[in-house]
Amino acid sequence: MRRKKALLLLTASLLTVLTATPSFAAVRTITSRGKSYAPLANIAAYYGMTSSEPAKRRVRLQNKWNKIEFQTDSRNVWINGTLVLLSEPARKVGWQWAIDTTDFNKTIEPAVRPQEFLKTAGTRTVVLDPGHGGNDKGTSSPRNVQEKLVVLDVSKRVKSKLEACGINVKLTRESDSALDLSARCRKAAALKADLFISIHANATANRSVRGTETFVLSLPGRYSSNSYGSGKPPVSVNTGNRYDIANLALGFRIHQNLVKATGQEDRGVKRARFEVLRDAPCPASLVEIAFLSNAKDEAMAIDPAGRDRMARGIADGIVAYLADVNRAKK
Ligand SMILES: [Zn+2]
Repeated sequence: MRRKKALLLLTASLLTVLTATPSFAAVRTITSRGKSYAPLANIAAYYGMTSSEPAKRRVRLQNKWNKIEFQTDSRNVWINGTLVLLSEPARKVGWQWAIDTTDFNKTIEPAVRPQEFLKTAGTRTVVLDPGHGGNDKGTSSPRNVQEKLVVLDVSKRVKSKLEACGINVKLTRESDSALDLSARCRKAAALKADLFISIHANATANRSVRGTETFVLSLPGRYSSNSYGSGKPPVSVNTGNRYDIANLALGFRIHQNLVKATGQEDRGVKRARFEVLRDAPCPASLVEIAFLSNAKDEAMAIDPAGRDRMARGIADGIVAYLADVNRAKK
């Protein structure tokens, strides 16, 4: 009898120890007005993280390996220092800060623990897609630096860097030739792409805007980043949504490494329903490497060393994603 009691006590103390370490069974969610939310305190418990409020409107979750910093009443979250836009803001639900459970599952999780979700992802063939070409010049800079030429050069540099690591790489176009949007995804499918990265450059009327932004496909029933709050978000599920988790894991790695290699302003990992992302036959991401309308970004795009830094960042991101996939398969 006494022995049984001791055993029970031992079991109870073991359980206490177990609950103090991260528990990945499932994050505890709450429901409010028919919507499911993951409270930030429950996310902290799930990852075995501490929670603090280091500044106004900031909630920081942290453990030895990862740091997640939410801006409250905002879609901005910095995951290990890299900006990512959630589909919905972190908001007060009852008395606690919480995020949309879908954002937790499809944005936070694949960025924080990619190795847990990529077991079935392929690694054999990388297809790079230099945007525009031929009559379609894309955007251009005040000094007439053309997007179609910059992104072709950057893509070729990414290709040679990856090939130096023994990775099989194909381009959707090898020269300054026209290729329509639907042909790009068909080509990726024909080349049996395991990952697909479309490479573009930006421009806008406001010349002070600069930096890098990386897009992955919007989630069904959720807004795209740049049209938040306008109308109702489409609920349709596109081909590319089969890879929601891997899309984010890939986009996050590329963006993180691109910002690091170039020192560019971090405009975030965002979501959009671009055709090449909607129809992608594999995990996909679209990079906007720089704003040709900004003088500093334009200078980087003109300089071969600048384009090489951009290519280095994209290549490093692809290598990091492939390493995540390989860790997942172990
Ligand atoms: Zn473009």
